[in-house]
Amino acid sequence: MTKPTIALFGTGLMGKPLAIRLLDADYKLVVWNRTPDKAAPLAQLGAIQAETPAQAIRSADVLITWLADKTAIQEVLFPAERASLLEGKTILQMGTIGPSHSRGIEDAAHAHGAKYLEAPVLGSIPEAVKGTLLVMVGSSPEQYQQYLPLLKVFGENPVHIGDVGQAAAMKLAFNQLIAGLTASFSLSLGLIQEEGVRVEMFMDMLRESALYAPTFDKKLVRMLERDYEDPNFPTRHLLKDTDLFLDAAAEHGLTGAGLEGVRDIIAITMAKGLANADYSAINEVIHPPRDG
Ligand code: NAP
Repeated sequence: MTKPTIALFGTGLMGKPLAIRLLDADYKLVVWNRTPDKAAPLAQLGAIQAETPAQAIRSADVLITWLADKTAIQEVLFPAERASLLEGKTILQMGTIGPSHSRGIEDAAHAHGAKYLEAPVLGSIPEAVKGTLLVMVGSSPEQYQQYLPLLKVFGENPVHIGDVGQAAAMKLAFNQLIAGLTASFSLSLGLIQEEGVRVEMFMDMLRESALYAPTFDKKLVRMLERDYEDPNFPTRHLLKDTDLFLDAAAEHGLTGAGLEGVRDIIAITMAKGLANADYSAINEVIHPPRDG
């Protein structure tokens, strides 16, 4: 079967490595980014760089969004003057947005004669580079089968979660754990350090226990060295996703009080100028340095 032509909107931290994977898999690729400089290196690798979203929409069958949030998706694909271009296209939404937002975008897509599916991912830049992301698909079963070869470019085993909105919910469920586990680990580590208990002894026992999560070891050195440079997933995204989860929780009558506390910590971290730092920078608020 001939491969569809892809337009990829958003060549940020995640969009760029995934654009490279599409090129390596021999897809004809058009890229557009609000800040054109960030997409320019992809043109060197064989992508066509569109000057406007309209040009990218016109030239492709499948429109992949790797944009920050719902507002960006609306501004790029759905302004009144552009919406008529969507007829007959398929929108594949891969960023992290809320379940109700995703269903709203599906409705807007259908209203403009376009098809829509969502495929948010778990994993970050290293997994994006290697094509080992965990891809969660919200779509009809037929769409899942149709786009499986494309989705496999991003992750070996894309999973059909259910209808549009359900994969978005699954993604938020995971990111809520990122926020909670990281905050919880930072707090325990802080007490261990302040009490002068050997950190290696704490980690050895933790690793043996049922309480251990691999993310603890991934963030341990950053927290001990207070080094949050060169992030894969910045604090600002964790705040966005925490807010998305809290909204979804409120819609369903879930009690999010514990997460609200973590949300406050993330917001204070942002106010300290750490919005673009690795999200483990919440450690700076949970366990502030003595001289800070
Ligand atoms: P990023 O590097 O901040 O990229 C965000 C992209 O959205 C950029 O291309 C940015 O354009 C664009 N954008 C933002 N607002 C826009 C607007 N109003 N109009 C047009 N374009 C706009 O973020 P990322 O890490 O690639 O994340 C993208 C999405 O994937 C987010 O939803 C994020 O939560 C999700 N995600 C991220 C990770 C991760 O580990 N980083 C993992 C899984 C999912 P400019 O370049 O012009 O700013």
